[in-house]
Order: sequence, then structure tokens, then C-alpha cells
Amino acid sequence: LKRVYRFEEGNAEMKNLLGGKGANLAEMTALGLPIPPGFTVTTEACQAYYAAGGMMPEGLMQEIHDALRGLETAKSAEFGGVNRPLLVSVRSGSVTSMPGMMDTILNLGLNDETVKGLAEQTGNERFAYDCYRRFIQMFGDVVLGIHSIYFERLIEQARKENGRSCDQEISAGEWKELIGKYKWIVEDRTGQPFPQDVRVQLKLAVEAVFRSWNNMRAKVYRKAYGIPDEQGTAVNIQAMVFGNLGTGSGTGVLFTRNPSTGERELYGEYLADAQGEDVVAGVRTPRPVSELREELPLVYEQLSAAAGLLEIHYRDMQDIEFTAENGNLYLLQTRSGKRTAQASIKIAVDLTKEGILSKEEAVSRIEPGHLDQLLHRSIAIPPELAPIAKGLPASPGAAVGLIALDADTAERWAKDGRKVVLVSTETSPDDIHGILAAEGVLTSRGGMTSHAAVVARGMGKPCVCGCEALSIDHAGRSVRIGELTLAEGEEISLDASGGLVFRGGLSLSDPEITPELLALLDYADEIRKLRIYANADTPNDARKAREFGAEGIGLCRTEHMFFSGSRLPIVQSMILAGGREERMLYLDRLLPMQQADFEDMFGAMDGLPVTIRLLDPPLHEFLPNPDQLREECRKLEEAGENGEEVRKLKAMISKVNELREVNPMLGLRGVRLGILFPEIYEMQIEAIFKAAQSALRRGVDVHPEIMIPLVGHPDELKRMRALVDDIGGQVLSEEFRGLKYRVGTMIEVPRAALLADTIAQHADFFSFGTNDLTQMTFGYSRDDAEGKFLNSYLDGNILKANPFQVLDQDGVGQLIEWAVTRGKAVKSFLKTGICGEHGGDRESISFCHRTGLEYVSCSPYRIPFARIAAAQAAL
Ligand code: ADP
Ligand code: MG
Repeated sequence: LKRVYRFEEGNAEMKNLLGGKGANLAEMTALGLPIPPGFTVTTEACQAYYAAGGMMPEGLMQEIHDALRGLETAKSAEFGGVNRPLLVSVRSGSVTSMPGMMDTILNLGLNDETVKGLAEQTGNERFAYDCYRRFIQMFGDVVLGIHSIYFERLIEQARKENGRSCDQEISAGEWKELIGKYKWIVEDRTGQPFPQDVRVQLKLAVEAVFRSWNNMRAKVYRKAYGIPDEQGTAVNIQAMVFGNLGTGSGTGVLFTRNPSTGERELYGEYLADAQGEDVVAGVRTPRPVSELREELPLVYEQLSAAAGLLEIHYRDMQDIEFTAENGNLYLLQTRSGKRTAQASIKIAVDLTKEGILSKEEAVSRIEPGHLDQLLHRSIAIPPELAPIAKGLPASPGAAVGLIALDADTAERWAKDGRKVVLVSTETSPDDIHGILAAEGVLTSRGGMTSHAAVVARGMGKPCVCGCEALSIDHAGRSVRIGELTLAEGEEISLDASGGLVFRGGLSLSDPEITPELLALLDYADEIRKLRIYANADTPNDARKAREFGAEGIGLCRTEHMFFSGSRLPIVQSMILAGGREERMLYLDRLLPMQQADFEDMFGAMDGLPVTIRLLDPPLHEFLPNPDQLREECRKLEEAGENGEEVRKLKAMISKVNELREVNPMLGLRGVRLGILFPEIYEMQIEAIFKAAQSALRRGVDVHPEIMIPLVGHPDELKRMRALVDDIGGQVLSEEFRGLKYRVGTMIEVPRAALLADTIAQHADFFSFGTNDLTQMTFGYSRDDAEGKFLNSYLDGNILKANPFQVLDQDGVGQLIEWAVTRGKAVKSFLKTGICGEHGGDRESISFCHRTGLEYVSCSPYRIPFARIAAAQAAL
């Protein structure tokens, strides 16, 4: 078994065996770049070390020494030799980059004798002893476990005693003296003298690098990034080059593009007369790499050429570590550079324009997390500022505003031009106007799919939910967080992407749809097969959606149109009406309002389909809370009022009670409303056709799709379809009879999915309403699951993800596949899509692509994300 590979023997494909660093050093060697000679001990050797319970594998050191002979020849030096001593670095190198998590030792091979040889060979005694003290300190720290603070203190002291302002000024003699003390520390803390045998040094160093795979920070990092624990690290042993040889020398790091903006420029830092660890240690402030151009023009030129070559070779922005020794450049590492969201988009698009990447590759490079960041506002958090509370990052973005403790206050203040954050225990459909008016929402209860979370995501509003430390004192109009009390009207800031709450107003930056992002979205549009629709309830949302690239409205929830201030009382009267006739009176008043809404929607979506869902929620959601009503009633009676007012209230209370259901979500709602109170659906249908007609008159290209919710029996849809066709026939004048509209249903009851073939006979389209479908397939109440048991299921690994966020492909997905197949078997042109929270989730979008749906519908703000996710799914 081969456990040691010379750099000449490896390549970039061998990351699993050689680690990222080793594989890339080998690749760069093959490219003819200036790489100090070296070799890599494989990750398998590390695994063998652990398998043997932390014992060096038999014969490994021999192989290492054999390979070392190659370095001796290349450098005409001798490991442990007193004349021309070979010094090496012993460097960790994991398969997946774990920057700075593991250990590296430099200048290995020095001892009391070889240091003299190094001084003689270079004619630079100061340099030789500088290397030696560095070596003892690093070896002491990494191998012997002596904290560097002990050494640092001594340097500090030496600097003071000798009046030196920086390490460069310390003389050879002073270093020598310090080295004496260093060795004393080693002996004192380990009970053994500092090892003088270079072979012992090497063995201990290799073992230490193996062990550093399991140091605390590496373990934590692996857990955070899902890197397997069994991988192990490779060890790279490489001839040293010296950046600390005076003015023609130095060391630095270089990004081939600016990692924060993506700009095409060499970006990085270097330190003159220094070794690698100085850059990290922050002892001296490094200088921008551009200054190298004046200082060491030849090195800069070589570096710039190497950067260009590496970028084209790896077809990505590179993060390069380099050292200059007496005016000669050496490269010590290259890897794909970490970058900000903005930079990642710009770099992908620029590389495509430069002909280095294909459009497909550019799209596949984009991380969804980066898009998330880009498409929302963000907040600048000063490093010293601690949040006053933490909750769940329910809807990303950031907001600053005055605390408003109820929806009405929020709305009133917003009308006065003040920015508010709605702070509430939880929210309900009654609070929509407050959420609309607020910059952001903060709740003390509820999870990622609570009402506030769902609504806020839909509106693209930042929202922090389930902030349990927070309690609201409604009587005192204040909020308490531990010891802290904030009055209503005080300013707070939300970093909703992180779930953080801050006191005071922090500064915000807007999301940017940059030209690069637009270009990337264009690439995505060329690649994707899925159409992207929007869930939008208002013309404003529809326009926003279109701006973001929506190709239609997949879900317009008409009930949201009923909640607005002036309409709600009419809606309530309509619900409370004694009979059909009285109800019709109120419906007649609602009709022109709905019609106007729809006209605007059609106008905004000129040329594109608009899917309108008829009324869905249980009616009591529109009615006030009976407890509140009773309280009002009691007050009136106490005040001696006994008249009309009280009678009305009592009637209302009894009606509200009448409509009360034990399981409203399984009660009188959806198509059942249409069957029991056809006049409500009739009004809505009439409004749709009238709106279509007048939009057509204005020259708007109208494509209405009428969607019946909660169908579970084919006859339900059959009846509603007849109703639609009937009313269409009555409303549309001769001229517009030919209007093409579709009638379809939401598939959200498992029975509907199972009977998809019979249902398809009456449907032009299926829209999978995965929120309800998930709720009913699992039998989990969406409103209760999160607070009560879902977290235990997630913690206990029964569920891998919250099924209300990530589509359950095993269960719910099977129903969808079944329904699509059976439906299309009956009607090949049946249009299928998904609406609901899952339409904006990456994995779920990928599932929809594979299942052959025509579209996904998500909130307007999610559309750019969905366009890219759909393209990634198609790759
Ligand atoms: P990390 O993975 O933490 O970056 P490295 O193994 O890359 O650790 O080493 C850190 C730094 O040590 C390098 O960036 C380089 O400056 C320096 N270094 C490593 N090997 C050598 C070498 N052979 N010659 C000179 N400097 C080296
Ligand atoms: Mg490195």
C-alpha cells in the first residue's frame, strides 16, 4: 500500500487520498508553477493511525524518510545536516477545506547544531535564530501542548528590555538568549529537554498533525459543516522557503478577485520579511498586495501571471498563499476562495462572460443561502452590540421601527409616516393590516409555520417568531425582556435572517438586484423547465411578482381581499345574514369591490394566467372573538344600556357560537361553502367574469383560471364547474363569449389525490395545495404541530425536516406523483402545479421538476430564488 506520494505523483482529482492542499500542490507542480518540493502522507495513513488506537503505522516513518531523500537532492541539503540543513514544514490538509482548524509546523529540522549551519550557509545569523525560535514556539504549541502565550510573554519582555519596537529589530544575540529561555520553558513544562534529534522531531510532528484532526475546534467545525469524522487528514511535508530573509522576502495571501465585491482585481495582503504565521497572528499589520508592485515588481508580475493561470485552470476564483524568498516567488497553496453572496454572483457571471464557464456551470455554482442573503435587506450589527433577545428566523431580512403592540396602532402610526415593528404574542388573520403596515414582525410565540411566519414570508416582510424571552404587558403598553422594559413607541431593530432583536435603530442596507444577478436569472430562465408563478393576493403584489419575473399568478386568495378595513363589516353582515336573500344584499355590495380587485390583477398580469381561488377559510375567521363580544356586551349592560346596541351584540354572539366548530380546518370551509352557500361563490365568479370583460374592453389580454379549494369528491367539482360555466354564459356578452378560461381545483385532500382520474374529468388544472395536503396526509394540525410536538420529532430524528417547510417526498410526494400520473392519463393537457409554502423551497422545487409539474407558485419575493432553483433542478 502506497502511503506517501511525491507532489509529482498526484493531481487535483486525488483530494480524497491527498487532501485538498496536497492534491492542489501536486496539480500546481504539474502546471510548472514554482512549488517548493514536497510529498504527501495519505489520509489513509491517518485513518490507519486512528484504527491502531493512535499508533504510527508500521514502516510509515521509513517511507517518509525515503521520500525526504528526494527533497534533500532537490535542495542539495541534508535533513539534520550541520552544513546545509534541510528544513521542512509539516502541514495538515483535509479533504474538505477547514481553514485554520488544524495544525502546521514550520522550520522543522533545526536544533542547536543545524541552526549554526543555517547561519553560515545564509550568512545571516539573525535569520537563522529567528527561524529556530519560531520552530521551538510552534513545536512547543502544536506538538507539546505548551500554550504560545508563555513564549509570547518572553518575546514581549525581551523587546522591552532591549528597547526594540518590533521583532525585526531584535538581534541575533537577543534571539539566542531568548531561545535559551524557550528551551527552559519546554523542559519545565514537559519534564524533557527540547528534542534535538530531527528524526524524532519529524515523527512527533506527523503524529501531532494526525491528532489535530480530532482537536476540539476541528470537531466542532466538522459538525457544523457536515464533514464526516472518518475522513482524516493528510500530512504534507515540504521544503521550507523563507519569507523572513530581509527586504526581498515576504509572505502573503492573494485572492484572484475581490472576495467581497467580486471585482476582477488582485486582492490580498502581504508582510515583508515575515513567515506565514505572522500574517495570521496579527503581530504586524499587513499591507495590500498592490504595494508589492512597487516594492518587488518581478515578484508581483510572477504572482499576477500565476493567479491568472490558476483561475483559468481551476475555472474559479482562487485563494492563494505565497512566499517570496530573496526576490523569488513560491506558491504554497491554492483553493477556491470563500466569497460573499454578492461576489459569488458577480464572479459566476463574469467568468461566464469571459468564456471560462458555461451558463449551466454558472447557475450550478450559486449557493441558495447566498441568494437568500442578496434578496433581502440586511442590517449592520456593530461587533460590540449584543442582541436583547433571540427568536426563530421566520422570514429573512431586517427591519427598524417603533414598537407597536397591536395591528391598529401599527397601522395608525404607519399612516402618520412612522416606521413600526409589530410586536405581538402571536398574530391572526385579523392582524393582516398591522403586518402590512409594519416594517417587520416580532412574536413571542409560534414557530416557523405560525401565522405570522407564513404571512410575513408571503409579503417578504422580516419576521422573528417564537421569541420566548419576550412578554407583553398590554395594560402597561410595554414589552419585557428579562430585566429590560421597553415602552411601546421605543425603537428596535430586527435582524430577522439571524432571528435577533436589538434595542435602538441600526442602519439598513437595501437588497440589490444587480446587473449580474439579472444576467444570472436570464441564464436560469434558459435552463429551467418549470414555470414560476406567484402567490399574490393584491395588484401590488402581482406587479412586484412580475418585476421579479413571475409568469403568472398561481394563487390569488380572495379572502385576503375581504379583510381590509372598510370591507370587513360588510363581510361580517353578509355572514350573519338571516337567509339567502339578506345575504345577497351584502354580496351585491361586495361584488363591485371584488370586481375592481380582479380588474387590477388582470391588468397587472396582462397576457399571463391569473389563478383565483374562491373563498376558502371557515367563516368564523371573519368574525370577532366571542369573549370580546361578551365583554363589550357586559359593559354596555352595566352602563344601563339595554337598547338596540345590546340586542345586536347578543345576536352576533349567538351567530358566532353557531358557527363555532371543534375542528374548523376540517369543518365548513373550501368548496363546502360553495355547496352550502352558493350565492357567495356566485358573487365571486360573477366578479371574475365582469372584471375579465371590462379588462378585455381595455385591451388587456386576460387569462382567468378559477380554482375551487378543498375538493375531495368529484361531484363537488362537477357542480362548481357547472356553476362557473353557467355564470360565464350569463355574464359574458356575445363579443367575449370566446374568452378562454380554465376551471380547476386544488388538490389538498388526500382523497382528491387518490381519485385524481375522476376529478380530472372536471378539471382543466390541478394545483397542489401542499400546506393542507401535508396537514391532512400526516394528520398534523399545522397550527398546533410546531408548538406541541414537531420539535421533539425533529430533535429525535423521527423527521428529517419540518414537512411544512420541506415537502415530504416519501408520503405527500407519492400522492402528488400518483395524482399527476392518473390525472394526465385522463387528460393529457391537464396543467399541474404547486402552490403553498413549498413552492419556494429548493428541494421541493427539485421534486416538482422531477415529477413533471408545469409550474411552482411562491411568494413574489421568492421568485428569483425559485427561478434559480428550478434551473439547478434541470441541470
Ligand atoms: P493552514 O491550512 O492553516 O493555512 P498551512 O499548512 O497552509 O496551514 O500553513 C500556513 C502557512 O505556513 C502557509 O500559508 C505558509 O505561509 C507557511 N508555510 C507552510 N509551508 C511552508 C513552506 N514550505 N515554506 C514556507 N512557508 C510555509
Ligand atoms: Mg494555508
